Amino acid sequence: MELQHRILQFSNSPKYELLKSTFQKLDCRYQFNENGPLSSIEYTFSEHAPYASELISFAKLNDLFLQSALHYEEKEVLSAEWVEAEVGEFQYPQPEDSYIEATYDTRNYCSRCGQGKKQDRPFRLKKDFSQKQAQFLGLHWVFDEIFIRPMVVSLFNSTEIAGVKYLDVIHHKTNQPFDNVFQLDIPTIEEPALIVDNLFSVTCKSQNEESFVKGIGQLKDRPGAPFCGRVKYHYPLTEPIKFKASSLKGLPDFVKSYECYGSGAGANHFILVRNKVVRLIKEKKIKGIGFRRPIHLV
Ligand SMILES: [Zn+2]
Repeated sequence: MELQHRILQFSNSPKYELLKSTFQKLDCRYQFNENGPLSSIEYTFSEHAPYASELISFAKLNDLFLQSALHYEEKEVLSAEWVEAEVGEFQYPQPEDSYIEATYDTRNYCSRCGQGKKQDRPFRLKKDFSQKQAQFLGLHWVFDEIFIRPMVVSLFNSTEIAGVKYLDVIHHKTNQPFDNVFQLDIPTIEEPALIVDNLFSVTCKSQNEESFVKGIGQLKDRPGAPFCGRVKYHYPLTEPIKFKASSLKGLPDFVKSYECYGSGAGANHFILVRNKVVRLIKEKKIKGIGFRRPIHLV
């Protein structure tokens, strides 16, 4: 596990030349991304790299794009008992302006923080996914659902992956289920299990913790529904994702966290998969699902 930082700047930025000369001065092997007027330079480095702290201070001082995230070696992922799963975003749920009402029981839903919705109808899609290589697929806005091709259903059924069911997905225009796309029905852990000590928490209340965050905060509350008081967390990019080991015992091989992460009205559950699923998918070289973050059990 290692904290990695990435500094990036586009060539039309007034800070571009300054960053380039700083990289050259420090002998950083930066990358140039040729893309016409949107060309950029970027440099990814470990927290242990020479000049790491100088570069971070320089980026912060000059207000440059700086992204920091934990990076794990593949062997760390493969040896973990549980791993976080992620799929790509390929299309929008339908209807785009009311998919929440069309897909979820919203009796407990809060439109301010996005928490409390419970799926009770199939997802509706405009068309089949056009990604032919990927057997696992995902949507924009909905980061805690996984869509699959029939071969995944056969594979999971033949290898005793426990606790998953499959849901139909509806072609929005014809109202008919797709015959080659299904949704994995992933059960949610029934009790709090995420260790939240070092996470940035966001409470659904007037002028909450996010109000003071540059880029997302707002000086005044948006007009809207009453605040529900529930708490969610920012995605822990630079902190390990930790769960209570005792809460994960005896669960199915795919589960969703009880807690949500996200900012603004975004609220998604973490998707956790057991080691045997990760190994099976890697062994069969099935595409479309990523495993980058092991779950730290406490
Ligand atoms: Zn709320």
